[in-house]
Amino acid sequence: MLFNDHCHSLCSPDGAFSMTDMALAALHQGVGEVCFTDHCDCVNEDGALCRTFSWEAELAQFSAAQNTLGGRMKLRLGVELGEPTQSPDYAREVLALPLDFVIGSVHNPLFGRDYYFQHYDSADACRRLILDYLAQLTAVAESDFYDVIGHITYPLRYMRVRDGVGVDFDFCKEQLDALLCAVVRRGKGIELNTSGYLNCGGEPMPPRWILERYRALGGELVTIGSDAHVPENMAQGLADGMALLRAVGFRSLAVFEQRKPEMISLFQP
Ligand SMILES: [Zn+2]
Ligand SMILES: [Zn+2]
Repeated sequence: MLFNDHCHSLCSPDGAFSMTDMALAALHQGVGEVCFTDHCDCVNEDGALCRTFSWEAELAQFSAAQNTLGGRMKLRLGVELGEPTQSPDYAREVLALPLDFVIGSVHNPLFGRDYYFQHYDSADACRRLILDYLAQLTAVAESDFYDVIGHITYPLRYMRVRDGVGVDFDFCKEQLDALLCAVVRRGKGIELNTSGYLNCGGEPMPPRWILERYRALGGELVTIGSDAHVPENMAQGLADGMALLRAVGFRSLAVFEQRKPEMISLFQP
């Protein structure tokens, strides 16, 4: 069975489809369990503090999906919390909601525009931004504002794949270890974001060598999600991602309910 613990509905600024449409597509694509994780960003795309998340809209979408899907698949409701350490009071408010799951993500340099909206042409500038990215992500990892760290290596999607700058995360292994160690020390996890198979040069976020490093440092908790914003991507890369986790040596996948991980064997038929 496939699990998708990262996807977006029309409640996200960059989403356009109802939870019902997303769940029905997932069901038809062989996904047995879905957790919706709409964006709840503490800063907007320009890096200014914001509060745009609506829990009422989430609940309305979620109950409509549950009513339509009935017992045919398991649905859960989480959130992708962006830049939580930049607005800790807001993050705490959001985390007081009865969420199943929280992905802690960084999409913006500190006080800067989303990596998506920037143009990259110099490897040195990219390396500085990657160090800034890892510092911010490590601050999230040291906080209580997450269950798993989202799409590690996100800026590469735009630096390397879209704009063609030859950078990777291998120049900053020490900083990467600091991030992964913080996650392990706090008993939290990371996600394997399979959207990268489609739009990050054919490799998931994080790629295999970072998954291996996480495991070598004692990491065990990994969730999986396709980060779908459209129905046709609900199962995208999930089977490949599960095979990759098995190849790296993980025995199980984590699925969160009421913020608690349940371990699902990766070796079930
Ligand atoms: Zn994200
Ligand atoms: Zn996302």
